[in-house]
Parts: sequence; C-alpha cells; structure tokens
Amino acid sequence: MSGNFFPFSIARLPRIEFGSGALEKLPEIAAGYGNHLLIVTGLRSFAESEAGTRLFAQLRQRGLAWEQVRVSGEPSPEFVDATVAALRGTPFDAVVGIGGGSALDAAKAIAGLLRPGNSVMDHLEGVGPELPYHGPSTPFIAVPTTAGTGSEATKNAVLTAPGGFKKSFRDDRLVAEWAIVDPDLLATCPPALIAADGLDAFTQILESFVSTRANPLTDALARSGIMAARDALPALHRQQSAAARAPMAYASLMSGICLAQTGLGAVHGLASPLGAFFPIPHGVVCGTLVAAATASNIAALEARAPEHPALPKYGEIGRRFAMQKGLSGPEARAFLVDSLRRWEVELALPRLAAYGIGESDLPRIVAASRGGSMKTNPIVLTDAELTDILACRL
Ligand SMILES: [Zn+2]
Repeated sequence: MSGNFFPFSIARLPRIEFGSGALEKLPEIAAGYGNHLLIVTGLRSFAESEAGTRLFAQLRQRGLAWEQVRVSGEPSPEFVDATVAALRGTPFDAVVGIGGGSALDAAKAIAGLLRPGNSVMDHLEGVGPELPYHGPSTPFIAVPTTAGTGSEATKNAVLTAPGGFKKSFRDDRLVAEWAIVDPDLLATCPPALIAADGLDAFTQILESFVSTRANPLTDALARSGIMAARDALPALHRQQSAAARAPMAYASLMSGICLAQTGLGAVHGLASPLGAFFPIPHGVVCGTLVAAATASNIAALEARAPEHPALPKYGEIGRRFAMQKGLSGPEARAFLVDSLRRWEVELALPRLAAYGIGESDLPRIVAASRGGSMKTNPIVLTDAELTDILACRL
C-alpha cells in the first residue's frame, strides 16, 4: 500500500450520472432548477446529431425553453464577456454545457458570471487584478461529448487569449452541480480527437498520480483511471470499439476529479504557454509531450531524488503496462516510457513543428511555464531539462 496518511483535503465534486444512456436524465435534472436554460455547445454540432435532436425534443416535451450559444475553438475572455453582456438581461435557471473541453469551460465561465455580470478578466489567475470571486453562480450542468479534459469535474475554466495567455478562472462555486457522462456520445468522435483528448486524460491522471499533492484517495482513483485507459485508448482509436467508450469516458472523468484535487505537472506547465502562443490544441500538446516529460521526470528523480515516492509510482504504472509484476524499478519505468513513445506513434500525434514552433521559440515557452501546473511536478526541472522535452518533439 503506497501513500502516507498525511492530512489532505478533497474539494467539492459534482453529483455524477455515469453510463450508457445517462443523457436521458438531463431533462429531468435540468427541470429541477427551473424551465429556462442556457445551452452552450461546441461548433462540432452536437445540436445537429441524432442524440442532440432527441434531447431537444425531450426538453420541449418537458416544457423547457432555452437559448443556445455555440463556442468555436478554445474560448477567449472576450467571448465569455461578450456572451455574458448579451445575455445578462435574461434570467436563466441553469446553464447546460454540452461538448468538449472548450464548450464546457466556456459554459462554466459564463455560468459563473451571468449573475454578477463583471468581466472574467477580473478573476483570471496570473493576469489582471485577480479579484476574489464571490458569485452567485448559475447552476451548471456539464455533459462531456469527448473523453479528454475532465472539465465536467473541475472548478476551473481555461480561457485563451490567442497570442497572449492561457489562464484559468477558478473557484469552488464554478464546479458543475451535475456531471452527466454518457459514453455513447463518444460514438461520433473522430480518431484524431480521440487520440489527442485521450492522451490529455491519460496525462492528467499520470500527472495527478505523481503530483506533490497526491493523496491515497486520488491515488486510488488515478490507478483505476490508468487501468481503464491503458487498453481502451488504443482500442477506441484503432477500431472505434464501442466497448472502449465507457472505460475512456471513465478515465477522463477520473482525470478531472484527480487533477482538481492534486494539480498537474510539467506537461501541463508547458501546455499553458504553448497553447497561448501557438494555435495548437491542448490535447495535441499533452499527447506529443507526455513521453518526453515522463522520461525527463524519471531521469531527474533518479539523479537528484532517488528516494522520492514518485519513482515507485512510475514503476508501478510501468508494471501495469507490462503486465509483469517482477520487473525491477528501472525496468518498469523504462517500459512505461517506451509504452508512451509507442502511443505517440500509434496514435499519430503531430510534432510541435507542425504548428510553426521552432528552436528559437523554446526560451520564451520555458520562461512562461513556471507558474500553475509546474508547481506540483514531482521534481523541479531545470530550464535545460524543459528545453530538451520540447526540443525532442519539434
Ligand atoms: Zn489537460
């Protein structure tokens, strides 16, 4: 049994409905808050899908009315402010976000600000005045249609100012009242999205598991998520296997629950400036960096902190990947890194250069990577180590 029973805190979680057909529960759950909804979706149109058509018919049958907002790409602070300004006069009983991480994060930020009405820039971490958020928020229901960000379980909305920054609006009051996780919604997800989103989820669980703030409860959830993703991610990507949808949706949910408690690590530390400076999707950043960052963390820990509890944890995951309990620590850790490198190839993750990132960009990316997620990486990586992680994926 690993993990020491030192004090820890578990922040608020949503109520969760998980499973095939869970979407059918949305009309009743939403009606519990009133009859006027704001529905936020992505552009990749859930609204036009079979599931969307059925859902809207069910909402109508229940006498619910709604307005719909569509989010294109990763949401910006301007988009959130403009949406709030346009809708402020209308009282909404609940906000329903249906889509990938972008739609859920936009919906979460809008739900937070519809009633107070101020600019999201007042609260974003690391930019602006960072005023405390006092609410009130509008009840938020999150329905993920991808297996990736875990936003349905977290208290932060990530907003991107293209060319400038990628920062979070974060508060316990932003956590969804309900997360409705229906694996059937993954049926229409194209393979490239499955790969990038799935590796985001996997990275989030792995980084939570070795985070400096990991605790026995998050460790248990992270283990179950890693085991679910290990087989399901390649199967879902390669064969669009229907049986792999539920375990990937579960892994994504676990990634959100864990990261909300423990923070993340080097991959997400680098993802913040990469996503801000370049038009590279978040999942692609995670997928393309996770093997190199894991190798770098392991090498740094072996060299500078050989007694660190993250080392046996990497070994444990390596043994679970290898399905060989007898592997030594170094063998198991090498197996984990090799497995992640194989995923990089099998899942056809693009390299950084495909998004216009070159060697001369690396210093400013590294310089802007130190806040946020980097703080809970198991070991402090040097600028040279962070540069190497990026350089080997150019
Ligand atoms: Zn992520």
